[in-house]
Amino acid sequence: MAIEYTLSIIKPDATKRNLIGKILNRFEEAGLRIAAMKMVHLTQQQAEGFYAEHEGKAFFADLVAFMISAPVVVLVLEGESAVQNYRDLIGATNPEEARSGTIRHDFALNYRYNSVHGSDSPESAQREIAYFFVEQEIFK
Ligand code: UDP
Repeated sequence: MAIEYTLSIIKPDATKRNLIGKILNRFEEAGLRIAAMKMVHLTQQQAEGFYAEHEGKAFFADLVAFMISAPVVVLVLEGESAVQNYRDLIGATNPEEARSGTIRHDFALNYRYNSVHGSDSPESAQREIAYFFVEQEIFK
């Protein structure tokens, strides 16, 4: 198995409810190492660019409004098969469908306010990491 890097975001619903520490703890307990981390209040343009693949969908404007409603924490996580392992750790997009013990099951409020983001493939991870970090900010 190969060491991979994945992009994680602790979303506004979680930062507003003081859940940053609890969520970071879940990452580390699962064996993921924090290779980069910063807190950012996204601009509308940054949020729209990040979610460009969803442009045109009914939920796009509300998703962007949510993502800029408070600061977020953006991270690069490192680990064996980190992309899939992290997706397993966060659970299904809709917390009602997320397995018990997953971050979204335990913390998310609903389908939109679902506490965390995670890259869905190694290709997305590469693109999303480059969207937020330059090479020197990632501690390998
Ligand atoms: N989302 C939403 N309404 C929907 C579907 C998704 O508000 O009907 C939001 C939700 O916050 C989700 C994000 O849009 O995490 C991106 O959706 P995607 O399908 O890419 O899910 P993810 O990869 O985050 O699990």
